Amino acid sequence: MKSMYLKVLSLLFLVVLAACKSDDGGDSSPEEDSNAGNNLALGVSAGDLLTGGNFQRMVIEFVYSEGFRPRQETIDAFRTFLNARVNKPGGIVFVETVIDPPAGAPFNATEIREIEANNRTQFNTDDTIAVYVFFSNGSAFGDTQTGFTLGTAYRNTSMVVYEKTLRDVSLDNPDFDLGRLEITTLNHEFGHILGLTNILGDDIHEDHEDGINRKHCIINDCLMYFEAQRSSREMLRQVFRNDEVPQLDELCIADLQAKGGK
Ligand SMILES: [Zn+2]
Ligand SMILES: [Zn+2]
Repeated sequence: MKSMYLKVLSLLFLVVLAACKSDDGGDSSPEEDSNAGNNLALGVSAGDLLTGGNFQRMVIEFVYSEGFRPRQETIDAFRTFLNARVNKPGGIVFVETVIDPPAGAPFNATEIREIEANNRTQFNTDDTIAVYVFFSNGSAFGDTQTGFTLGTAYRNTSMVVYEKTLRDVSLDNPDFDLGRLEITTLNHEFGHILGLTNILGDDIHEDHEDGINRKHCIINDCLMYFEAQRSSREMLRQVFRNDEVPQLDELCIADLQAKGGK
């Protein structure tokens, strides 16, 4: 009798849960609604980020816990990268938000989104588009000795740079300068937010998306080049084989220009 009772109870519980779930969509708070413009798929805001049409200004929010701020030279280089590509007549503003270190690393994709939900302070307003960058105090879930994630762009205006991983790599191998790791990762992930390479699949005018490493560029020297078959360390050697930080090649720049970029 007891087990039967439990079964009935759990059935009821399931029904209640299902009912709650179906209510979720229609009951979002006004605050959630006002942030809807920052809760879209990767790449869809490329035009709004590149042009001054809908948003005259851009705010970049760097969120980090103590000890994980990127270097000042990285922030300066990122500003230069943005100014070279985006049209924001009202300017680009940087905001820094220092948080308590999130617990539970390594972080999976769900946890990275939770950290954003708990800590992001900048959202789109009438004339300003906001981009969130978390410099993580922990590594990405699933990292191994040979394959590790340096950064991920996961929404239209959201990305994470695994700063802890960059620092560990740089400590292990002094050839990999931390500043260059930071700016390469930042620029690369921002390139994804700008729609590179062929993120939406409908705006390409030169066939330079890598057929195997999708959403990346086939041009060897390009910032958006990535060869997944190699281990991360080999990939890093590729990044560091020249003296300069990898730049966007002319095909990727042409893609940005087609959407209103410089
Ligand atoms: Zn990438
Ligand atoms: Zn390219």
